[in-house]
Amino acid sequence: MSAKIIDGKKVADITMNLLKEDVENWVKAGFRRPFLKVVQVGNDPASTTYIGAKTRACQRVGIDTDTAHLPDTVSAKELKEAIKSFNEDPTVDGILVQLPLPSHLSAHDVIESIDHKKDVDGFHPMNVGRLTVDQPTFKSCTPAGIFELFNYYSIPVKSKHAVVVGASNIVGSPMAIMLSRENASGKATTTICHKFTKDLTSHTISADILVVAAGQPNLIKAEMIKEGAVVIDVGINRVADETTDKGYKLVGDCDYDAIKQKASWITPVPGGVGPMTVAMLMKNTLLAAKKSIYPLD
Ligand code: NDP
Repeated sequence: MSAKIIDGKKVADITMNLLKEDVENWVKAGFRRPFLKVVQVGNDPASTTYIGAKTRACQRVGIDTDTAHLPDTVSAKELKEAIKSFNEDPTVDGILVQLPLPSHLSAHDVIESIDHKKDVDGFHPMNVGRLTVDQPTFKSCTPAGIFELFNYYSIPVKSKHAVVVGASNIVGSPMAIMLSRENASGKATTTICHKFTKDLTSHTISADILVVAAGQPNLIKAEMIKEGAVVIDVGINRVADETTDKGYKLVGDCDYDAIKQKASWITPVPGGVGPMTVAMLMKNTLLAAKKSIYPLD
């Protein structure tokens, strides 16, 4: 079997074009253009790259944005004061604090200081909690993007055995919650694996849907998957490659070439899940502007 390719770039393009139309209709109806406030602490080059991609996405769909730059020496108190001012600013619809933060700052604390009604990353405990009880919420962007891909390609989820490798708060855990809980598009029987999982293969081999978000290149090999499985590779890893100008290439967590011969569907890296994550951030920002998740009292 040769897997069909899940083209995240194509689906993200379609999604972004629809969002652009939605934004323009919202503005034509007399409403203020949605506004996303990004907070960057320090100058981590990867963070700068990710913020650049998010800024370009905002420009493409017509969402206003700017980035507040704070030094990497900023105290927790100063950072939370800045966030408080954005929480209280009625012209700010969405707030995103780019992670990771310098080690003296607690990401948990900082995320909790964001008004959950403006938490367009979907990381605030209120939004994660609402996800868990299957209530309207800002869904974490990467899992939400993966569900858009399932929907676009009509990949069934209900009653399948889904295995998620990786249990982070931003990808693995919300992915597992959505796969298992969501009435609308989930309801898979779900297994979640992490570093302490014994005999990873004994779990991955029975997956109808395998979502891998561990950040470990080549973790999942063809012999670890079932014939015909749907394989979603979330990992983005830089590995040295002298044949490229940059001296590295991006790979996922899966042995793509070998797994492609055995899976029914597979996401490439790059061009699979990544573009969908940014598109879902745009969607959440528009939902925040429209007060769709948390209507005004
Ligand atoms: P984290 O490092 O926060 O989490 C990784 C998770 O994988 C942890 O739960 C960890 O277990 C688990 N893990 C690590 N090694 C193994 C292993 N050998 N076997 C089983 N589980 C393992 O990473 P993120 O969740 O933030 O990101 C994961 C990957 O996805 C990264 O490559 C990241 O770059 C990429 N990513 C891609 C996005 C996209 O849009 N495509 C968006 C976000 C992330 P434990 O909990 O026990 O430590």
